[in-house]
Amino acid sequence: MKDYRSLQAVQADLFSGEISCVQLTNEYLKRIREHEQLNIFLETFEESALKKAKEVDEKIANKQAGKLAGMVISIKDNICYKGHKVSASSKILEGFESLYSATVVERLLAEDAIIIGRTNCDEFAMGSSNENSAYGAVKHPNIENKVPGGSSGGAAASVAAGMCLASLGSDTGGSIRQPASFCGNIGLKPTYGRISRHGLIAYASSFDQIGPFTNCIEDSAILLEVMAGKDEYDSTLSAREVPAYSQKVKESTSDKKRIAYLDCYVEHEGLNEEVKNRTVEIIKSLEAEGHTVEKISFDLLDQLVPAYYVLTTAEASSNLARYDGVHFGYRSPNATDLLSTYVKSRSEGFGPEVKRRIMLGTYVLSAGYYDAYYSKAQKVRRIVKEQTRKVLADYDFIISPTTPHPAFDLNSQVDDPIKMYLEDIFTVQANIAGLPAISLPLGETKEKHPFGIQLMADVFQEEKLLSFSKQLMNKYSLKKGEA
Ligand code: GLN
Repeated sequence: MKDYRSLQAVQADLFSGEISCVQLTNEYLKRIREHEQLNIFLETFEESALKKAKEVDEKIANKQAGKLAGMVISIKDNICYKGHKVSASSKILEGFESLYSATVVERLLAEDAIIIGRTNCDEFAMGSSNENSAYGAVKHPNIENKVPGGSSGGAAASVAAGMCLASLGSDTGGSIRQPASFCGNIGLKPTYGRISRHGLIAYASSFDQIGPFTNCIEDSAILLEVMAGKDEYDSTLSAREVPAYSQKVKESTSDKKRIAYLDCYVEHEGLNEEVKNRTVEIIKSLEAEGHTVEKISFDLLDQLVPAYYVLTTAEASSNLARYDGVHFGYRSPNATDLLSTYVKSRSEGFGPEVKRRIMLGTYVLSAGYYDAYYSKAQKVRRIVKEQTRKVLADYDFIISPTTPHPAFDLNSQVDDPIKMYLEDIFTVQANIAGLPAISLPLGETKEKHPFGIQLMADVFQEEKLLSFSKQLMNKYSLKKGEA
């Protein structure tokens, strides 16, 4: 099978009869089986995927196929698909089957996407390396002994390994953009409230957003277009009209943009030399092309990660209270009464990182410390949001590296949670402020390890973000000329 890297290339072959959806799905399933040792998929949905593929082949023959016909896509194991297992890579949900589908899943299927399976991730989406999964770490598909990033590590790796054309992940603090950076694909976190969270297993509800991993901007655009927009099951969703992203992105624009870069990001002491050089190179080149690119001072960098961890753990401690051993999921066989059912089921069912965060979140919400931590972090959130949006009132985008360095070694940071938390240093700002951000695979080290460049825009500016991303991909992508 060809190494398809865009829906357009797949559909050209489907519509000309060169390949069928059933063949395509079987090829991807074969690839997944051949690389089982990477631990990317927790399960393939062979039966339902092939059934859907057959149905889409018939629709293609009858000229009734939906927009996503032939898009074989994987979903992160925290997105519900009716009649299929979902576990958030946690033992506490082992064996649990979804009773309904997430809105995003319904919308993908309605447009004839083929959902091939669920991908491994950090337990309850908490992590930056995919090493916190109850089902074992995911290995980087292209670089031996490296992590794929997290928490949507399986999702990013599934696309990088050519096991599907696209994937859905979730991003609470960087979990789409950081693994996209490590794996060398495009990861989009939309504006908070752009895509329904109905059917996404909650980690921190005021931060979580679903978004796509793809190889090209056109695929990100069409997936966003299909998934975005009003949903009566998510009250935080915006009722704003959904632009025709997939059309808009085709229109070529060459207008000059105003782009800011934050001093504390680009001059950060922990920034890898090669990542820094490439970022500066792109900044200079954009300037030479006539865009306005200016350095802005931003002095809240040191507050971002702490505020993120206070607020998200607080929300997680509340969201995860529902896993009590009674309603669903794991129940300890050692329990003897109600209290021991709660205590033992939760103690045995959750992994160490999830427990750490539940305890931290409970602590920051406790009566004695609420003001010192939770209220204060809320205030920091407000200030970060105001200051970031102030910059974005003057500039179209903020450009930065996505991550301070490329993929790191497996097992090298698992025992150092603070170091792991600092992996999010450049990505959390967008979540704290609710802004859209994208990681583009525009960098590579001498050893050919990929890393991403991030663009952030003001709320609901995805159209502009995608168009400019396409320009950057055309100009700076290191993988030119692929289908
Ligand atoms: N790495 C971050 C964390 O551990 C982000 C996770 C995410 O975006 N789901 O919380």
